[in-house]
Amino acid sequence: MPKIDERKLENYANKLYKGLLKKYKEKLQKNTTFSFNLFLEQEKKPERESLTDGQKSKVRKNCENKCVICGKRYKDPHEFQYHHVDGNSTRTLIRNLVLLCNRCHRKVHSEARVKLKEYKVRNRDKLQRQGLLGDFGIASTPKVGIPDVQLKPLDLDELLFGSSGKKTTKRKSTAKKKGK
Ligand SMILES: [Zn+2]
Ligand SMILES: [Zn+2]
Repeated sequence: MPKIDERKLENYANKLYKGLLKKYKEKLQKNTTFSFNLFLEQEKKPERESLTDGQKSKVRKNCENKCVICGKRYKDPHEFQYHHVDGNSTRTLIRNLVLLCNRCHRKVHSEARVKLKEYKVRNRDKLQRQGLLGDFGIASTPKVGIPDVQLKPLDLDELLFGSSGKKTTKRKSTAKKKGK
């Protein structure tokens, strides 16, 4: 299996991340209550293969008939995809398209998603202040386990007034008798 060029992978993941971030911010501006899960689902959809055969062959030629990340040779069309560099699948410009093998394509998208998620976690407070957080798909901060210690209920009267003091609340009858 051809080796993945990590720097190229990072480069494409960054470009995709920037595109996703832009798209994400635009969506947030448009609709603050929009569901991020819906957004994610849209991202997961395979890219619309609205490319013409001519466009595809141009992209392949530009990419020298190989995956631009690992260099795998283009043979079986099922093992390759045409990736929109900026993640905008409506921008089917040749310069916004590269040939990627399925494996590298998956990696680019998953790395970009991780970056986007990190961005949201980093900016959580800011986004929340702006009312832009919405349903973010970020798991809430994990709760730190608190040991299950059973504390005795405090006797307020006892604390404030001592056992023989005035009482603001009813106390046990034995204590009452004692106090009088
Ligand atoms: Zn590849
Ligand atoms: Zn893609």
